[in-house]
Amino acid sequence: MEVRLAKTAGFCFGVKRAVDTVYEQIKTGKTIYTYGPIAHNEAVVRDLEEKGVRVIESRRELERMQELPPERAGEVVVVIRAHGVPREIYELIREKGFVCVDATCPSVRRIHRIAERESLAGKHILIAGNPVHPEVEGIVGWCRGPVTVLESPEDAEKYAPLEGENLCLLSQTTYNYKKFQHIVEIFQKKGYNDIVVNTICNATEKSQAEARAIAAQADIMIVIGGRHSSNTAKLYEICRGECEHTYFIQTLDDLHLEEIPKSARLVGITAGASTPNKLIEEVQNYVRVNF
Ligand code: SF4
Repeated sequence: MEVRLAKTAGFCFGVKRAVDTVYEQIKTGKTIYTYGPIAHNEAVVRDLEEKGVRVIESRRELERMQELPPERAGEVVVVIRAHGVPREIYELIREKGFVCVDATCPSVRRIHRIAERESLAGKHILIAGNPVHPEVEGIVGWCRGPVTVLESPEDAEKYAPLEGENLCLLSQTTYNYKKFQHIVEIFQKKGYNDIVVNTICNATEKSQAEARAIAAQADIMIVIGGRHSSNTAKLYEICRGECEHTYFIQTLDDLHLEEIPKSARLVGITAGASTPNKLIEEVQNYVRVNF
């Protein structure tokens, strides 16, 4: 039996950069917070917690935190994770006297800049994405005018711009490429006056394409990632479409080899962008030894 691990499995550039930033900040000896969990992965968050890093779960929680007196300003660091945050969160962090260390992924930062620039130029910003995902909430928070989130091509069908309105269509970095294309086609057919910027992240496209290719050949496919990770959920959806025996696991404990058919010749493994290498290796070794 062959075990094939996707080369793109695990931490993407942006998440790796954000996690490394937190470990770097720990060395300063200051009180470190992350705005939201730094990665959608319980093992990573737990390890940081053990090192004293705390998570600010919401804007409300940040608002309630005590402001530092001027002589203590800078003792507390808040790290912004790869997903990014709305503009006002930076302001709130500074108002409290905290240091803001921005680990927003450059690909997400680019979307913020486009959203801000185009909305200041009078365009209605449309974002193809999940409206309750923090990345999308962050992008919405950089728009200076009207903004609408389209979750699906069906939403795009229903959407109608105001008379004479100019549109700018962007996407969440982890949005499904085919669905985005579909939305673009709908807009073209309706003759909307729009500019389209495909802001789907390369890392996502590559890992989705690789997962699809491996799953198409695999008898069994294992997708490793956090329960709340949207890119892991998408990898699972793609792999499940190609390979009937696809398993979504968070840790090695979720993997029950007795459920897996012994006749398998190829076992494929991939992992979401927030899955640490250590965990991927653990799963890979376990499958090699025990299967
Ligand atoms: Fe950045 Fe892409 Fe990773 Fe998102 S998936 S954090 S956009 S590299």
